[in-house]
Parts: sequence; C-alpha cells; structure tokens
Amino acid sequence: MKLLGIIGGMSWTSTAEYYRLLNEAVARERGGLHSARLLLHSLDFEVVAALQRSGDWEAAGLLLADAARGLERAGAGGLILATNTMHKVADAIEDAVSIPLLHIADATGARIRAAGLSRVGLLATAFTMEQAFYTGRLAEKYGLDVIVPGAEERADIHRIIFDEQCRNDIRPESRHTYRRIMAGLVERGAQGLILGCTEITLLVGAADTTVPVFDTTRIHVEDAVTWMLGSD
Ligand code: GLU
Repeated sequence: MKLLGIIGGMSWTSTAEYYRLLNEAVARERGGLHSARLLLHSLDFEVVAALQRSGDWEAAGLLLADAARGLERAGAGGLILATNTMHKVADAIEDAVSIPLLHIADATGARIRAAGLSRVGLLATAFTMEQAFYTGRLAEKYGLDVIVPGAEERADIHRIIFDEQCRNDIRPESRHTYRRIMAGLVERGAQGLILGCTEITLLVGAADTTVPVFDTTRIHVEDAVTWMLGSD
C-alpha cells in the first residue's frame, strides 16, 4: 500500500472525517485489520483563514507548499489537500514537490461526467463559489455548467461553514438552511449538487435532495484509496 500525505486541518472537523473514511475504505477493500498508511500535516486553521480573509493567497500557497515538501521528505508518495477552497493554491503545491497531488475538483468533475450530468449546483465557501479557480476548472476540463446560489444564500453557507462547522458546532437550523438552498438550485435546473466544501457532508447528504449529490470529501477519499491500493 502506498503512503498518502494529507495536508489537513482546514478544518480539523473535515480532516477527522477524511481519516475515518480513508481507514474504513482500506479496511473494506483489504479486510482483516488493514488500515490506511497515512502522514498528516494538520495546519492551524486560524492562520490559514486569516490569509484567506486578507486575500494573501501567495503566503497561503507558501505555507501549504512547505507542508507538502515536509510530507514528501517524510516519505509520502502522493498528496491530498483536504479542502476545496485551498485548491486555489494547488499550483504552488504542485510546483514544490515531485509527487502527485490528487486534485479534488478533478475527482469530482470526472464523477459528474461519468454520471452523464452537465448542469450542477455548487455549495461551498464564498471563495470557491465566487472565484474562478474551481468552477472554471470544472467548466474547462469537464464541460460542466456550474450554478451557484444567490448572494444572500452564499453568505449564509459561508457563515455556517466558518462560524459553525469548522468549530464543530452542529446546528439543526443550518441543516434546514442547506436544504432550502439545495432545493432552490434544483428548481433552477441543477441536475446534481456538489457539496464543494469538505465540512458540508457533516450536515447534509443524498437524503436531503431529489437529485444526485457529489460529496467532495467522499469522492476525494475514493480517489485517494484507489491511488493507495493501485500498483503504479
Ligand atoms: N474545508 C472547506 C473547503 O472544503 C473550507 C475551509 C477552507 O477554507 O479551507 O473548502
């Protein structure tokens, strides 16, 4: 089994979910007492979030690139970055190491294409919904038409992620807010919905909508396990 490096802690609540899902998947595939071979560099999310807020993506890229180099030096053969938003600086990470970074948007785009869908709704942080690094990649590489909620709803999602979910504060009323926003995207023609923030899966899933859900945390884990257990 190959050794996977995780750049995580963004936030720790979703990284804990990655850890559980990676181990469950390896145990399912291999049986017995098998578990995932992992290295985790868990960052202090306050530091990262402050750089996001001030728009200093260059410094954020340097920080994550440094973590990536450390994981490579420690023996990781491949990397995942356990957040959608920070894929904004994926290039900085890829430039810093010679091992592959399994990109979360590629994993997700490929699944949506395989399902035969072309118009999908996106729930994510404001950075991911409003900047081109994520929706642009899905459009250019996978031909997807990605729609996002209106401004007020985008602000609601962003607030729930940072003020609640990243602090392990689980609120039923926020589940209802997500459901309402998801229904609105379906009404606007979304054939599927991307849970494009790795914490969102902790609050809603397939049972909360009528269309297929693309849960980026689970999809990313699936791709990571395929890589770990693969032979190349
Ligand atoms: N985990 C989240 C994501 O997937 C948000 C936290 C962050 O900004 O990295 O985008």
